[in-house]
Order: sequence, then C-alpha cells, then structure tokens
Amino acid sequence: MASLSLRGIYKRYPGGVVAVSDFTMNIKDKEFIILVGPSGCGKSTTLRMIAGLETPSFGDIYIDGKRVNDVPANQREIGFVFQNYALFRHMTVYDNIAFGLKLKKVPKDEIKKRVTELLDITGLAGLEKRYPNQLSGGQRQRVAFARALAPNPSVLLLDEPFAAIDAKVRTELRTWLRSMVTRLGITSIFVTHDQDEAVEVADEIIITNHGKIEQMGSPIEIYKSPA
Ligand code: ADP
Repeated sequence: MASLSLRGIYKRYPGGVVAVSDFTMNIKDKEFIILVGPSGCGKSTTLRMIAGLETPSFGDIYIDGKRVNDVPANQREIGFVFQNYALFRHMTVYDNIAFGLKLKKVPKDEIKKRVTELLDITGLAGLEKRYPNQLSGGQRQRVAFARALAPNPSVLLLDEPFAAIDAKVRTELRTWLRSMVTRLGITSIFVTHDQDEAVEVADEIIITNHGKIEQMGSPIEIYKSPA
C-alpha cells in the first residue's frame, strides 16, 4: 500500500519520439485512478516507467515519498497486468500465480496459503491445475490479476487489461475489478483508450494527449465540464 507521485516526467525514446512530456501526478494511498487517452499518447510508457521497465529522460518518481528512479524493477514492489495476459503457457494456473513468490523464495507452505487465498478472491478455485489454453479470456485475465497481486505489491498497474476480452465479459470484469481493488485497498492505475470504461471504473480520471495531461477530475466533474 503506497502513495505514488510523478514529477515533471519526460520521456524521449532513442529514435527521437517524445512519448511523455512534463507529466506530473500524485496518487494517494489506496486511490484508484484511470489514465485515458488515444493510442500512442504515452500511457504504456508512463506505466513502464513507474514499474522500472523504462527510465525517464527527466523527472522523478516517488513511491511513498521515496525516490525510486534508481531502484530496479524487481525491488519496486509493483504488480503489472498487461493487455495480452502474458501468462506462462507451460505453467498451470497455480504455478502462474505462485511464480513471483517462488522468485522471492517464499516457503512452500506460505505460497500454498497465499495462492489458495488468491484463487478464492479471483473466483478461480478449482481451476488451479489447468493451463492457460484451457481457460476463457476472462479467466486468463483473472489469473494475471492473481499473479500480479500474489507478492503483495504496493502499487498495481493495469495496462488495458480488458482490451482482448469480448464486450459482455468486459463489463462484468470491470465491475469485478472495481470491487476487488476497493476491497483490497491497493493503490492502482488503470490505463485505457476507452472513455466509457474510464467512467465506469475510476474514482479519478486523468485525460492525456500527446504525452501531456489535458484534464483531471472525478467522472462527474469531467462529464459536467469537459475541457
Ligand atoms: P499508449 O500506451 O498511449 O498507446 P505508448 O506509451 O505505447 O502509448 O507510446 C507512446 C509513443 O512512444 C508512441 O508514439 C510510440 O510509437 C512510441 N514508443 C513506444 N515504445 C517505444 C520504444 N520502445 N521505442 C521507440 N518509440 C516507442
């Protein structure tokens, strides 16, 4: 559980593309915010910098008030859920969820306890011996959530997590995600290009374009006075 702050972040890729420009935002502990903006406006790059998978060209990232620019990805305690599941195909549901805990050398009985708890939370109990190709899209994405949550991350990053899922299941999953994240009280950033999704899911919406913030506020504020 943690607060997160980005100050004056600027990212220029080696080819010269400026993906993010003077980006500043503060997220309180347990807050759930959405970054909305068209494809290519720098949303994924922002998440990747928070996770430590990309380095900002300028600017600072703070988690719980501590500057983490030089902290490697595996020590930032961040859970990441990607659009395309990115599950390990040769591993069962159980082993996928246990993966981060094994890396951290958590004792086997503790892993079992935690994985069982997550299977319950995500409604996947009974499916632990299946492989990803034996699951529906919605179930796969719930495995991805469980895997990201297993090591108890302080921040959860969700990069268009429902983009590959059909519309009907997507609505269910949004509601499910919303209640799960509220219940767990985890600081989260959800990225999407879909405005309807943004309005449905978030406490606070941040609208980005060309790597800059255009507007921020609650869904109602933005609806009442769109910039
Ligand atoms: P979004 O998530 O909003 O779709 P991205 O952060 O993926 O946007 O991309 C922002 C811009 O940066 C795009 O113009 C994209 O082509 C460019 N970009 C993304 N990743 C790289 C990279 N590794 N190298 C060079 N340019 C990149």
